[in-house]
Amino acid sequence: MMPSVTHSAGAADAALDADVVVVGAGFAGLYMLYRLRALGMRAIAFEAADDVGGTWYFNRYPGCRCDVESLMYSYSFSEELRRSWTWSERYAPQAEILAYLRHVAERFDLRRDIRFSTRVVSAVYDEGRNRWQIATDRGEQVAARFCVMASGCLSVPRKPGIPGVDSFAGEWYHTGQWPAAGVDFSGKRVGVIGTGSTGLQLIPQVAKQARHLYVFQRTPAYSLPAKNRPLGPGDSAEFNAAYGTLLETMRHSLTGTLHVMKDQSVLATAPEERERICERLWNEGGAGLMYYFNDIAVDAAANEEIARFVRRKIKETVKDPATAQALTPTEYPIGTKRICIDIDYFETYNRDNVTLVPLAHDPIEKITAHGLRTAHGHYDLDCLVFATGYDALTGALLQIDIRGAGGESLRDKWQAGPRTYLGLGTAGFPNLFLVTGPGSPSVLSNMVVSIEQHVDWIADCLKALHDRKLNRIEPRAEFEEEWMNHVNEIAGHTLFVRAASWYMGANIPGKPRVFMPYLGGVGVYRRKCAEVAADGYRGFDLASVD
Ligand SMILES: Cc1cc2nc3c(=O)[nH]c(=O)nc-3n(C[C@H](O)[C@H](O)[C@H](O)COP(=O)(O)OP(=O)(O)OC[C@H]3O[C@@H](n4cnc5c(N)ncnc54)[C@H](O)[C@@H]3O)c2cc1C
Repeated sequence: MMPSVTHSAGAADAALDADVVVVGAGFAGLYMLYRLRALGMRAIAFEAADDVGGTWYFNRYPGCRCDVESLMYSYSFSEELRRSWTWSERYAPQAEILAYLRHVAERFDLRRDIRFSTRVVSAVYDEGRNRWQIATDRGEQVAARFCVMASGCLSVPRKPGIPGVDSFAGEWYHTGQWPAAGVDFSGKRVGVIGTGSTGLQLIPQVAKQARHLYVFQRTPAYSLPAKNRPLGPGDSAEFNAAYGTLLETMRHSLTGTLHVMKDQSVLATAPEERERICERLWNEGGAGLMYYFNDIAVDAAANEEIARFVRRKIKETVKDPATAQALTPTEYPIGTKRICIDIDYFETYNRDNVTLVPLAHDPIEKITAHGLRTAHGHYDLDCLVFATGYDALTGALLQIDIRGAGGESLRDKWQAGPRTYLGLGTAGFPNLFLVTGPGSPSVLSNMVVSIEQHVDWIADCLKALHDRKLNRIEPRAEFEEEWMNHVNEIAGHTLFVRAASWYMGANIPGKPRVFMPYLGGVGVYRRKCAEVAADGYRGFDLASVD
């Protein structure tokens, strides 16, 4: 155990308010606090919301649930915690995941170190004192040796800049800021804008309530059926019995899940055999189909075979041929935008009260007081729902005025796109750690696995610094350069760069188009990070400065 600052530090540290400031209290911030406390470090977390949960606090829209299976989408750090919690469904609904995170906060008494309803507005590195000066929207100032950004990759909702949005006389909602009291759509004419993962979860639920639902679709989505089902005690028992092996598999897999890629190419598999495999994986549900064959992400012809299989399923499900056609993605390779996992999404278009409005040839012109006008018509609406996603990966970081050594601003440094070493830190910003930052597998993975890996790495690093009587760590520019080249090179070998996705920043006007997460895989990445640490934090400058 590391002694806390108040007991061990010398006079130079007397002005420290904390050893570490943590920004955010979702999966990442909570676990970071837990690890810091175990190290005996004094940590303060700031959270903009009035409770823990992050993603699962804000996204209370109907149908919201995880799309990585609940048993995998759980912390691994405490066996006691695992045994104290039972998931009720294969894909847990939002309320249950939020309850889980509240349970974690209570079980480990984490709330006492979290300042809720407090937004960090700036973080400035004071070079002379080797401290981060953190300022909040409540006027608080905290000095800390280290700062950990656990501020989330999908925590800044994006409302599209459609003209007239403020003139709408009805109610409007963003899925990422859903009212805690819920919304009753009964008897209402509802418009949903956005057909990504969130839209696909929401639409079937709203359709069950609304008088009429209009879905405004810019780009059709590839989606696989979740085949959600209740979990019984047997499921957890079976998972727990094999837990050690399963966890190792997840940690060393491509995506942090139990989908283990076979050494088998789509194109080298005979068509009948391929069909049999695709059909089996489709019926099992979930994302398995995306990770079975080894060439879907890199070979356009292989990808097209799988895309064709999914397109056929859409055609078989949706009764109206014109609607089926409009729902069928053809413009980008499957998997290069986040694959959706749905419950009755395509089936929903067979309902009489649901109308698809494809925008490809009938774009939105403006939102009016009473609805939405496209090039060819006007849709009268009582409610509008924006399922338009997030300013992903960099949004939350760049909302904060972060200034490093010499006053350099992170916004300036990342003007042409984020630059990091291992997604964990960025040159010029000493003692600043990012959890699941750009340049790490992050949103391409089961994020709980990736969050735990990062938090463990950061906590181990802090302990190593302490043990070696060091107090400053900073990525070296040339290692960052090399890492970014590696990240870009891998992305360039895949089909991912062919899609205008939020992984590329393409959903935000003016955002640089660079592929932000690391595609090398969770297992490979984990090994690289471990090697860097084992090699004395290769690529980082370490120092003791006071
Ligand atoms: C609808 C939805 C479904 C998802 N489903 C899955 C899934 O099935 N599997 C998966 O792996 N991932 C999924 N994700 C990704 C999900 O974001 C992560 O799995 C995980 O919850 C991220 O945890 P986090 O703690 O890193 O970030 P978050 O949960 O986003 O928490 C970050 C917190 O930081 C706070 N914050 C940010 N900036 C500041 C600031 N300046 N000051 C104070 N507080 C701040 C925010 O308020 C937020 O509470 C989903 C995301 C969404 C939006």
